[in-house]
Amino acid sequence: KTKIRNREEGYWRLSKLSVPAHKDPGKDFIGVSLPLLEAIAKILKFPVAPMLPEEAFTVVRKSFDARKVLKEPAFVYTVDMDVKKLLHLEPRTWDFISYLEPKLGFVEYREDENALTDLVDILDKGKVKIDGSNPSNGFTYSEKRPRVAVVGSGPSGLFAALVLGEIGADVTLIERGQPVEQRGRDIGALVVRKILSSESNFCFGEGGAGTWSDGKLVTRIGRNSDSVQAVLKTLAQFGAPPNILVDGKPHLGTDKLVPLLRNFRHYLLDLGVDIKFNTRLDNLVVENGQVKGVVVSNAKNEPGCNSDQEKLLFDAVVLAVGHSARDVYSMLLQHNIEMVPKNFAVGLRIEHPQELINSIQYSELANEVQAGRGRIPVADYKVAKYVGGDKFNTESSFESGVENRSCYSFCMCPGGQVVLTSTNPSELCINGMSFSRRASKWANSALVVTVSSDEFDSFRSHGPLAGVEFQREFERRAAEMGGGNFVVPAQRVTDFLAETLSGTSLPASSYRLGVKASRLHNLFPAHITKALQCSIEMFDKELPGFITTDALLHGVETRTSSPVQISRQADTCESTSLKGLYPIGEGAGYAGGIVSAAVDGMFCGFALAKELSLYRGDV
Ligand code: FAD
Repeated sequence: KTKIRNREEGYWRLSKLSVPAHKDPGKDFIGVSLPLLEAIAKILKFPVAPMLPEEAFTVVRKSFDARKVLKEPAFVYTVDMDVKKLLHLEPRTWDFISYLEPKLGFVEYREDENALTDLVDILDKGKVKIDGSNPSNGFTYSEKRPRVAVVGSGPSGLFAALVLGEIGADVTLIERGQPVEQRGRDIGALVVRKILSSESNFCFGEGGAGTWSDGKLVTRIGRNSDSVQAVLKTLAQFGAPPNILVDGKPHLGTDKLVPLLRNFRHYLLDLGVDIKFNTRLDNLVVENGQVKGVVVSNAKNEPGCNSDQEKLLFDAVVLAVGHSARDVYSMLLQHNIEMVPKNFAVGLRIEHPQELINSIQYSELANEVQAGRGRIPVADYKVAKYVGGDKFNTESSFESGVENRSCYSFCMCPGGQVVLTSTNPSELCINGMSFSRRASKWANSALVVTVSSDEFDSFRSHGPLAGVEFQREFERRAAEMGGGNFVVPAQRVTDFLAETLSGTSLPASSYRLGVKASRLHNLFPAHITKALQCSIEMFDKELPGFITTDALLHGVETRTSSPVQISRQADTCESTSLKGLYPIGEGAGYAGGIVSAAVDGMFCGFALAKELSLYRGDV
């Protein structure tokens, strides 16, 4: 039970308020509807719901719950109640609120109205004044501001650049890919004409890997933490729909991400950040165990081609290059930067008709989805099983002999499409993206199993990069199985379980560059295939109909998270082996997903600003 203090001045948080789906105005409405007031009135034991003043309530979270255990699918709300505003009610009507006080197990009291801290607030509290002047924010800085390179403009790099730029560092943002406008054209050329630009594609370019994505903003690092809220609020400042602050499963979609990134770029430019697109980090300038700068080149040059290279000097280098920058990992290895292999997951991407997933999840309510236009969100799913190791666990006929490991769905894209995330034509890997309405007729998701570093034994000669070679091996096999030209090997899920080649008439796929019937059951080592088969059988028990001849598996999903971690100090984010280097985000092994990468970038921005004596606040 949460103790209530200072009630008159505060807020009460009411959670788990359930509004039946048929009464709710729908997924896009984040105001206070009468059915929600009724749910609030019920929990408060207030007799006349319409008498509750709407303005006293703010929706802070809205999720859709269609679990089969419920009598009826419902929208579930968390609401903040402003007690001061409620006190404007007639005193008599208010009386019974005090009667509630002893029974407040369901209420959480929030003392501070501003608990959802703005990034700008945090910045303003800790900024240090130095001499000189900066017209953009009224703060004063010395002529000689510390020079910081942020390499990579994915979520981690962008947020690090934002914090450092705001606090007063002289920031240069270095990005090998193109700004979103040109990147869009390069991706178009890939999807339509099969031309892969090695530097501007689904992984590389402004906004990083998550730009042409589903833009899911869910994270496992605590939805309500101040840092996650600061990231979401910043995204909303740059044009994300305000629903993301409330939605239980917020997502943006590519069409919303692209203009948002353009706004982000203009804000950084106004702050004085120097943004260099089409500029690839090729090397670090190191003197006496300290980074002194970077060597960059026009990204159109082949890696290793020294013409056009330029040396730029900096006081610190933030490395935010994502986990597809394998050339950067190799370069770090040459400098003996401390890196350790890390567990990750590999598997295949499954695609079902979206209508099937809607009906598995929602039954009759599925009709109300209407390709993202309806009141009910397009259905998703999340499944996870631990296979092997339990002799009583006989849920799957593939169970016997399966080694212990976790199998789970990953990066599920409702109403989306399967896309090519290779950065090199001889290696083939895929992922999923969607647009904001999630209106496509397909639902795709990776099905992956964990692999640990002791499985990379045959690649031991690559040292800490053994996991990278392990990924590469299966990406090459997938490219060979597909027969080249970015054609993806595919197999009906039923045939994958039966270990037979699917006939040539495969179900239609959203993947635009072509699919070829292949023996995906031979792609991974037998123990990984078995674990996948075993978990798919179990997933079908949870989502009956998951195994169907209409479901198509695509190969191969290898880049679920970084296969390596670049060791760094916990408090400062500085590399443990090279002074002045700050490895951050997914590529460094400290984040997985858009929001956690952004949070890591923000955290590192503050930590580095502190190291550079620009910031005195808390990190
Ligand atoms: P990245 O976003 O990978 O950014 C790294 C940047 O560094 C890139 O822009 C790259 O061009 C640049 N770079 C690399 N090497 C160099 C160099 N040598 N010189 C200069 N620049 C360099 N996550 C979610 O949370 N939700 C989703 O819905 C989602 N969908 C995804 C869909 C797809 C298709 C993909 C590929 C990923 C998806 N992800 C999703 C994962 C998410 O994109 C990443 O977790 C996140 O982008 C990691 O952020 P980051 O800043 O660490 O690295």
